[in-house]
Amino acid sequence: MIRSIAIDGPAGAGKSTIAKKIAKQKGFIYVDTGAMYRAMGLYYMNKGVSPEDTEKIEGLINDIDVSISYENGEQVVSLNGENVNSKIRTPEVGSMASEVSTNGAVRKKMVSLQQQLAKTRSVVMDGRDIGTVVLPDAMVKIFLTASVDIRTKRRFDELKEKGIECDFEKLKKEIEDRDYRDIHRDNSPLKKADDAVEVDTSELNVDEVVKKILDIAESKGL
Ligand code: C5P
Repeated sequence: MIRSIAIDGPAGAGKSTIAKKIAKQKGFIYVDTGAMYRAMGLYYMNKGVSPEDTEKIEGLINDIDVSISYENGEQVVSLNGENVNSKIRTPEVGSMASEVSTNGAVRKKMVSLQQQLAKTRSVVMDGRDIGTVVLPDAMVKIFLTASVDIRTKRRFDELKEKGIECDFEKLKKEIEDRDYRDIHRDNSPLKKADDAVEVDTSELNVDEVVKKILDIAESKGL
């Protein structure tokens, strides 16, 4: 039987770290949907398209092929055949992703791809609209949160580890702006699904969060 776990929440709540571990424990594939929107954002950024230029964004949509594959268990996001994993993690690409993901046509394309992936294999999928739109029938839905300072600190450390230097306050503002846009957009805004369980990770370490979610999954028969 194909099963799914949906993990949504704001930027830097720990979704990908946690989702990856849960997927490994369960033997499911991990789908990072944010990476898919980031690849879309990268494409438009490279083309110099303004995020306000809806006509251009929609006009180019059929020229973009975003696909997901796995190498040694790691998700590889390809943009028109090129592995873009190392290019999509910058704050600039994150902001562009957040801007272009307000577009209905962009979302339609990504949601359909994500639903296809979840049809073939059991998945742990993380994003903003997984429990509400992409996988409304997911057996387990988690809404992961943490204070904005803690989320910024986590992103800051993560970027530093990747050799990407940035200013803490600037990063915090970028996260706050992105959250605001994600929560207030008309198309599939970031919100907790009615049947999702909220997990605040501010005071928990990774193993504690993983355990909590695995316990929730078990209580739901998964
Ligand atoms: O999760 P991540 O921070 O990589 O996502 C980048 C951006 O992509 C988010 O700020 C959000 O605007 C968008 N996104 C989305 N729906 C998803 C996943 C990400 O709109 N399911």
